[in-house]
Amino acid sequence: MSAFRTLDSAELKGKRVLVRVDLNVPMENGKVSDATRIDRILPTLNEISGKGGKVILLAHFGRPKNGPDEANSLKPVAAALAERLGKPVAFANDCIGAPAAAAIVKMADGDILLLENTRFHKGEEKNDPAIVDALAELGDVYVNDAFSAAHRAHASTEGVAKKLPAYAGRTMQAEIEALSKALENPARPVAAVVGGAKVSTKLELLGNLTKKVDFLIIGGGMANTFLAAQGKKVGKSLCEHDLLDTAREILKTAAENKCQIVLPVDAVVAQEFKAHAPSHVISVDHVGDADMILDAGPKSVSEVESVLTACKTLVWNGPFGAFELEPFDAATNAVARFAARLTGEGKLLSVAGGGDTVAALNHAGVAEKFTYVSTAGGAFLEWMEGKVLPGVEALRA
Ligand code: AMP
Repeated sequence: MSAFRTLDSAELKGKRVLVRVDLNVPMENGKVSDATRIDRILPTLNEISGKGGKVILLAHFGRPKNGPDEANSLKPVAAALAERLGKPVAFANDCIGAPAAAAIVKMADGDILLLENTRFHKGEEKNDPAIVDALAELGDVYVNDAFSAAHRAHASTEGVAKKLPAYAGRTMQAEIEALSKALENPARPVAAVVGGAKVSTKLELLGNLTKKVDFLIIGGGMANTFLAAQGKKVGKSLCEHDLLDTAREILKTAAENKCQIVLPVDAVVAQEFKAHAPSHVISVDHVGDADMILDAGPKSVSEVESVLTACKTLVWNGPFGAFELEPFDAATNAVARFAARLTGEGKLLSVAGGGDTVAALNHAGVAEKFTYVSTAGGAFLEWMEGKVLPGVEALRA
């Protein structure tokens, strides 16, 4: 990955700095109920403000379909942001045009202004040149601190980055650096854990990883499809029987690329998809017709642990089992804690993210102990798929 521009090289003093951030925060009764996303952007906002830049925030909120509507207004988020920053945050009720321009004229160096939801304009998601120009007019410099929105080529994530001198914010920078260390330029051997429900949602991801990693550890419901592809019986387990050929293709590509596939050798089976359903451990060669595989077994966990011990880098997406239902969280918990321990001992660089993975690592109590956990969801998965993220590309030096 070639270098990208960071705040280190940005001239900020006295400049109008358009900062694209992720403020798509959960709300309950008109109040922000989880401020994680706000907290993540504070270093960038404080730095730009501290260096005398006028911080003009661009963000989307929800999925408004027909122009402005109160339910998708960013106004309540301005109050929450002010509280976390410990300084006032002004608000303009449009992200372009006269309301935005008037609010910007009033700003002193170091002030912070939040502009209304960019998605209130249809042209935002279409990367419409008219919206791009209207946004670019408001700033001298552009900073993107929203990795989670960088997989979309929208006006506020990509279009405007091409019109103004564009830089990565500190959160964006941390994310790109962590992800590059994990897949672009990793210390080898590299292992990837891919778990979760279905192969069908992760085909591109599996295809890309077979070409990049040394060990591909497959868990969760999707492992059943691979076991079935090898001729094993999976009983009533979640399994995509129409994808057996696809699974065989993936196994073949892996072999061609010297990527070792690690599948479960034993499983925890039950007869119902329910917490505390009676269960037992069985070899994957002896799954009965009425059995449902809900977790990887202890031998599989030991095998995964010995692979991780031999590796220097780990990328993780998706749980080993139905981790929301006890005791079928055991394999996910055990491997997550083992990876966290290796990370703590300085033996493993561990990066995780996407979908339920953050919840699974939180459940195991180790999210903070990984080297980096991405909360970016879709953008993280597209990165694992090897796709180009337009919002990141636009920041390359
Ligand atoms: P994903 O969103 O693809 O990462 O899938 C996560 C979901 O996969 C979680 O809700 C798990 O409960 C589910 N899952 C993992 N293993 C299994 C399994 N063996 N059978 C059924 N569901 C599973």
